[in-house]
Order: sequence, then structure tokens, then C-alpha cells
Amino acid sequence: GEKRRKNHQSHGTKKRCQGKNSMNGEHKESILEKRKELPVYKARSEILFECRRHATLILVGETGSGKTTQVPQFLFDAGYAKHGMIAVTQPRRVAATSVARRVADEFGCRVGEEVGYTVRFEDSTSHSTKIKFMTDGMLLRELMLDGELRRYSTIVLDEAHERSLNTELLLALVKRLQKSRQESSFPLKVVIMSATLEAEAYSRFFLDCKIVKVPGRMYPVEVLYTPEPQPDFLDAAVVTCLQIHLEEPRGDVLCFLCGQDQIEDAAKVLQERSRALPPSCDKLMPCPLYAALPPSEQMHAFAPAPEGTRKIILATNIAESSITIDSIKYVVDNGLVKARIYDPKHDMESLHEELQNACIPISKAQAKQRAGRAGRVSSGKAYRLYTEAQFEELSAAAVPEIKRCRLSSMVLQLFVMGIDNLMEFEFMDTPPILLLTKALEQLFLLQALDKNKTLTDLGRKMAMLPLEPPYAKLLLSSSKFSCSEEILTIVAMLSVDSIFFNPAGKREEAARARHLISSADGDHMTYLKVYDGWLKSKKDREWCHQYFINSRNMKKVEDIRNQLQGYCKQGKIPLVSCEQELTAVARCLCTAFYSNTATIAPDGKSYRMEVTAQEVYLHPSSVLFGRRARSVVFDELVLTSKLYMRHCTVIDVGWLAELVPLLYKTAGKS
Ligand code: ADP
Ligand code: MG
Repeated sequence: GEKRRKNHQSHGTKKRCQGKNSMNGEHKESILEKRKELPVYKARSEILFECRRHATLILVGETGSGKTTQVPQFLFDAGYAKHGMIAVTQPRRVAATSVARRVADEFGCRVGEEVGYTVRFEDSTSHSTKIKFMTDGMLLRELMLDGELRRYSTIVLDEAHERSLNTELLLALVKRLQKSRQESSFPLKVVIMSATLEAEAYSRFFLDCKIVKVPGRMYPVEVLYTPEPQPDFLDAAVVTCLQIHLEEPRGDVLCFLCGQDQIEDAAKVLQERSRALPPSCDKLMPCPLYAALPPSEQMHAFAPAPEGTRKIILATNIAESSITIDSIKYVVDNGLVKARIYDPKHDMESLHEELQNACIPISKAQAKQRAGRAGRVSSGKAYRLYTEAQFEELSAAAVPEIKRCRLSSMVLQLFVMGIDNLMEFEFMDTPPILLLTKALEQLFLLQALDKNKTLTDLGRKMAMLPLEPPYAKLLLSSSKFSCSEEILTIVAMLSVDSIFFNPAGKREEAARARHLISSADGDHMTYLKVYDGWLKSKKDREWCHQYFINSRNMKKVEDIRNQLQGYCKQGKIPLVSCEQELTAVARCLCTAFYSNTATIAPDGKSYRMEVTAQEVYLHPSSVLFGRRARSVVFDELVLTSKLYMRHCTVIDVGWLAELVPLLYKTAGKS
């Protein structure tokens, strides 16, 4: 948007609302009235008082109590933005953008003026920005570029209870930074906000800092369980939503599902069923809400439903605590959350077949949090799609990511910030040594670290790309092999769930169609062929239909590809194509994924991994399945009934000695 130049000598509430917006007085007043009713608003003077007295403050309050929208404005009003911005981090992109919009509205400016946001691939701030919402990943990125963060006077770490890897890292780094800045003339104020009461651990970590607890404001929520375990959560969720719509009084529904695909499927089914509703019945409006949804479409979930219509918000875990929609009266909880569990022993992410769509059971605390979403404005009901016995088996709280995830990306970021003594680095929750060792090992083998455990130039460049280290290395190596255009496509294709449909009842037909577009060289090359074909068809839906390709995901691929291309330009990675010389692509894959290479065993079915001699199998979804390829490189190992290699490409093992000499020097030792 256009930039407005204004000088701000005063930071008072009165001044900032004058003549800034098309917003009329009435609307403004009603917003202010609503703000004043929020529990956090009532604690305003206490929050500011404690903030003045202490360098760090922890604020605990139920979801919806006004932490995210109000506290940054309190700090602004109290003058904290005079000598630098107020940064407010969010674990998720959708939360950062939607909250920025809301706060800009309350503040009386447009997004990108005094209130703005920065998320991956999108920056909506200007030199007048004072309150900046951002994903925690973006703040980490800024920390890598400017270790002092002098642009910020205050850092608000929101949603700290989630214990994402990024939040965990920020907690530790902010503590360090605060200490170093305290001695300078430019101290850093830190506010940590959390929805759960277990704030003591945070307080201990921040040298017993002050905790302010805002009393919640919750109506009773009746919790209902299914009598039997549900075999199909998606079906159960749709049926429950319809049942609520037909039998329960007015009020919107919030339904938790796993991932975009499930949400889109459920929306489609609900849309179809709603046409069959009797005319006397209220209308039903499915509103998807997930991270990758374009903002214009997210707005439906936030906007009030038209009269005589019930909204059914179909959301991922983002609606668990970081986003508040007041009209919710019914919650449908599938008891699952999309998450990956890293298995350091096999060095792979484990996906168990019985866990649908890479989802794991939520914790009791999460189930409680989800149910609570129904009691914001009046009493509500929570429908748990699991039995009471299943609930009892859930763990009390989720395991922090730092204890269960692959840490190589985090370790690389720490190295870029000059923190290389990981054993002495003070985390709030110490990561397991095995995870750290594996991370160091992977970074060394990717040549992000050299043998003295020193960060290499390559490592520094890898850290700047918003990709896991092996994919970053893949992209960075691609220009050397003159195939960056192809690798960009492959990385983008690998970033979405799946581009192929495999509908039950049409499996054979789908397989035949897929065969027509597959490449005998493997899955990565098939992806190239599909993307090319899609572009040539002018992104035709009919073409997608013919080959059982998910056209929605193809658009997403294009989007991600464009964004990554932007990063390549920034990072001066030349964009070159190898045209039809696909050997270059296979060789490039080998440099980044050399430890994921395997050769067929004498039985002609199983494979042995080159480095570990582990027995593995081609995943049945691979185009190479049943084709007896001699040696392959793959980018993912999954454990279901066996260890399966997913996304495989034919290689010549002879390349490895030439491409990864390091491997042959070290393999004997590990
Ligand atoms: P917390 O961070 O404590 O969970 P929030 O500050 O996000 O609470 O929300 C406080 C209140 O602000 C909500 O109850 C809701 O009434 C209002 N609100 C928040 N976001 C929006 C939005 N995007 N649109 C309309 N109202 C919102
Ligand atoms: Mg919040």
C-alpha cells in the first residue's frame, strides 16, 4: 500500500486514533468497549507496573483473554516503542497475519503502518511500524543477521506453552541477548505469554522472574465421548458436525482435523450434504482454516455468519490456542495433531500406519484446551471423537519438540549465531545428547560443518534458506550441476502432502493413469514430468483429472516454487536448467542425500543401504516399485510394517565415491 509519512512525538491513545482510518466513530467505540471487557484489559495497570519493575515478565491467561491483541498495545501506549519496535512472535503464520489485522483495526491504522507483520515470504511492515507481529522463525532469521536485534526495544514471545522448536530456541537466545544488552545502554524488555498455568518453569529459567496471572473467563463446557473408538475420524467428524447442525441450538462449530487435505475433503462433503437439508433448516457454511489458506479465504472463518447460517470452521491445530473466534459453541475434537516424530536410531521420521496422515494423539492438556474453545461466550459442548478410556490413556502434556525432533536445522542456526558449544548452551529443556550428536553428524556429512566443527560457507548459506538442511544443500548444489530449475521444482513438489490422488475404488485406474506420466528414472523425475505437463496443459483441471493429479496442490507447488526462486535470487544461486540431461539431477540428489542410497539385494526385492547396510524396501507408491532398479537415492525413510524408501531415483553407485569422498573416509568409523 501507499506509505504515509507521519511523525510520532506522542504515543498516547488519544493521538493515535485521530483521522487515521476510514473507520467511523461508532465502530471505534464499540471496539474500545469490547477491549475494555477483556480480562487482560482489567489487569492493564498491573501488567505495566510489573513490566516497569522487571526486565522480564511472564503473563498467563486463558486463550481469548486478550493477551495477543492487547498487551502489545499497552506496551506501545506506555512508550515502549519510542526507541525501537515491539516484536510479537507467533508460532504460526496465520496467527501472525490475522492478529496483525485485528490489532491494526483496533489501533486505527492499516496493516503495514504502525502495526505490521513479517512472515516467511511476506513482509508487511514499513518504517512507521512500531508493533510487528512475526513468526518465531522470522525472528530467528533476523537474529542470524543481526545478533543484537537493536531494532527492537521489546520482544513478546507469545504462545510459549506450545514448546515448538523455534520458541524453545528463542527463549534461550532472548535470555542470552537480554543479558548482553542489559549491560549496554539499550536494555531489552521481554514478555512471555502463555495460555497454560505451568509458568513456573519459564519463571525459573528467567531467573525467577515475575508471573502475572489473568483470571480466565469461561463458561461451562459439557464434554461428550464416543461410546466406541472411531475407525475413520474424518467420517466421524463430518457426521458429528451434521448432527450438531440438525439437533443443537444456534452457535458455530469448530472442528479439529489433520491437515489441509482432510479439511478440504470435509468441506466438500459438508457442502454437498447441506444441499440436501430441508428448506426450514438453517444454512450450513463450511469455513476451512489452515496455514496455507490464502488470507482472503481465511477471513470467512473470522467474519460473522449471515443470519440463519451456521458456520462450521474446519481447522488444523492453529485454532487450538493461537486464534480466537468468539461465536464457537460446539467443538468437535478428533484427538489428533499433525506431528512428526524423529527416530535418531534409524535417523528417520517415523510415520506409523495406524496413525492417520502423520498425526499423533494429542495430550490431555490439549484436549482440555480444545474443549475450552466452546465456552468463550456462553456455555458449550465438546464432542470428543474418542472414548473416555482413550482419553485416559493420553499423556498429560505434549512432549516439547526439542525432545523429539530432528535438530540439525536448529543446531545450524546456533552455529550461524556463533554458538558452537552446545553442551554449555542454556536451553530451558535440555535436548537429548543423541539428538544433538545426530544433528552434528548430519551437518558434518552435509559439509555445513568441517572436521573441526567449524561452520563452513556452505553451512552459512544453508541456514539462510527456509528448508531443512539436506534440501537446502540440494538447492545450493544444484547450480554446480546446472540443474537449479529442476531441483527447485523437485523441492517444491516434495513440500506438499501429495500431488497424486489414489481414490478407493479407482486404484487401478489411477495407477494406469500415473503410469502414463511416470518416468522410468524414478519419482523425482516423475515430478519433473508432472510439473512440466501441468504447465504445458496451462494448468488445466481436466488434465489433472485425467492423470489423477491434485490440482489444488499443484497450485501450491507453483507458489512455493516461486517463493524459493526468490530466495535463490537473494542468495545468488543462478537459475539454470539441464534441459533433458537428467543424470545431472540424479547426481545432484546424490550429493545431498548420499546417506539415503541403497542397492538391491540378491533376493531382488529388498535393498541394503550403502552407508548403514540397513535392510529397506521400495515404497509401494514409488514409480520404481516392481521395476528392479539396481541402485537408488531417496529422500525419505518411513517405517510402517517395514522400512520403506519414499521418493526414489535410479543412480549409479559408482558416483558416490566421486561426489562424496568424505563418506568413504568416515564411513568406517561410525
Ligand atoms: P489471547 O491472546 O489471550 O488468546 P486474543 O488477544 O487473541 O486473546 O483475543 C482477545 C479477543 O479479541 C477475542 O476474544 C476476540 O473477541 C477478539 N479478537 C481477536 N482476534 C480477532 C479477529 N481476528 N477478529 C475479531 N475479533 C478478534
Ligand atoms: Mg493469543
